[in-house]
Amino acid sequence: MGKPGGFLEHKRELPDNVPAAERKKHYNEFIKDEEFGDKIVAQASRCMGCGTPFCHQGCPLGNFIPDFNDAVYNNDWIDAFQILSATNNFPEFTGRICPAPCEHSCVLGINQPAVTIENIEKNIVEYAYKNGLVKAQPPQQRTEKRVAVIGSGPAGLAAAAQLNSAGHWVTVFERSNAIGGLLRYGIPDFKLSKWIIDRKLEILQEEGIEFRVNENVGVDVEIEELLDNYHAIVLATGSTVPRDLPAAGRDANGIHFAMDFLARNSAKVQGKKTPFPFIGDFIDAKDKHVIVIGGGDTGSDCIGTANRHGAASIKQFEIMPKPPKERDKNMPWPQYARTLKETSSHEEGCERFWSVLTKEFIKDKEGNLKALKTVDIEWSGGSFKEIAGTEKEHKADLVLLAMGFLHTQHEGLLDKLKVAYDQRGNIAAPEGSYQTSLDGIFSCGDARRGQSLVVWAISEGRECAVSVDKFLNNGVSLLPQKSTSQLISVMELT
Ligand SMILES: Cc1cc2nc3c(=O)[nH]c(=O)nc-3n(C[C@H](O)[C@H](O)[C@H](O)COP(=O)(O)OP(=O)(O)OC[C@H]3O[C@@H](n4cnc5c(N)ncnc54)[C@H](O)[C@@H]3O)c2cc1C
Repeated sequence: MGKPGGFLEHKRELPDNVPAAERKKHYNEFIKDEEFGDKIVAQASRCMGCGTPFCHQGCPLGNFIPDFNDAVYNNDWIDAFQILSATNNFPEFTGRICPAPCEHSCVLGINQPAVTIENIEKNIVEYAYKNGLVKAQPPQQRTEKRVAVIGSGPAGLAAAAQLNSAGHWVTVFERSNAIGGLLRYGIPDFKLSKWIIDRKLEILQEEGIEFRVNENVGVDVEIEELLDNYHAIVLATGSTVPRDLPAAGRDANGIHFAMDFLARNSAKVQGKKTPFPFIGDFIDAKDKHVIVIGGGDTGSDCIGTANRHGAASIKQFEIMPKPPKERDKNMPWPQYARTLKETSSHEEGCERFWSVLTKEFIKDKEGNLKALKTVDIEWSGGSFKEIAGTEKEHKADLVLLAMGFLHTQHEGLLDKLKVAYDQRGNIAAPEGSYQTSLDGIFSCGDARRGQSLVVWAISEGRECAVSVDKFLNNGVSLLPQKSTSQLISVMELT
């Protein structure tokens, strides 16, 4: 464990951020980890090494959190990196952008601020890169089996990494012009610099994984070609169909899906061509009155991006009620605390509204958006009613729809394959087997689970790889697997 009583000596502390006014001028990451120095060791010492480490179960990957905290406290960074990388292929991603369900279930969190697990994770992996610990480890033996992974988001990448390590020949097909899925074109650079993805891709390539970009399977590459040439296929196509808002005036100019705004912006920041399927003109928020509809991560990323463009004003509307600041009886520890979250993008400037319903998009004679008509609503049980007399008009010339995603894209590849879907339109493939309705075809990540988190995508990719490996290897796999009991705990806790 960390230092006995360490949590009594040290308060929870995180590195400072570059001030909002300064960081809005660029797209670089802005957490000042270098200035934090040895304080990270004191933070690791706050871990109590609990007999039942709830954090370990709160993490979808089952990361051995108390063990790596203890190693950091003892300044044994090599050990810390080995422990962390035993369960997580991409701590450089989760250490930056994970909402850290582990911290929500940290036992210290019962009556003290939780251990800064996510930041410790980032420091471990960055230490490892700086000190040459992250090296390509190609498999010592190759099987004669070939696997096609379709989709290069965190789920596809994790499945590919694990299957490659088991000795299979893995090819990753990506329809976009660069590898990474939402890590590349969804999550903005100020949260995750793209050289971090490229740094890892170099290692994966050196380990023997083949990456093929601009190859839309079902369009540029026929599925029959893959069925003929690969022994197994993994569908990791993400949850890409956005939820629309079919209110009056929806056809006004100036209303866009969040991903069109974010992906075109990210392409520009990265100096790349706008990737498929987000082709179209760059959407500029400069001097515009911007309204973001949707209160989640995607909405928040739109706010951070619109601020960097120099928007005249930014408002965010959420249909759900304002969450409480503290845990309440509906979210007791160790459950994930759905409390009010102020992201770094909110800090940079934005007016927030809750329990607001958009009734109409108002346009001028030319068809350009000029305002939004809203009404306040009151929630009772699972339904809401409009509050009479609360109708308002909000000036707007750019609206970004960030209300989540329905399911993976059916049209094209999946419909051609005739794969079965579940009731929500995700690819049907039970947790545990990840096997779709089609023999030898598996699925993982948002395509199977529905819109979720990077940490879940990695976890699904790893678990799916075990099933694929067993399929290719007469029911046997030596790949690491989360124990069933742990899976059950994770499902109960999140
Ligand atoms: C704007 C935004 C911000 C987010 N921020 C966070 C965050 O801060 N933290 C967090 O944990 N999660 C966040 N998420 C969620 C997270 O990004 C996803 O849960 C995760 O990326 C899912 O991974 P995936 O591999 O399943 O799918 P994706 O990352 O969506 O990747 C799927 C890939 O499949 C490709 N593809 C689809 N069909 C084909 C085909 N036929 N042929 C070839 N390629 C194909 C797509 O082009 C895409 O690259 C965010 C999501 C969005 C939209």
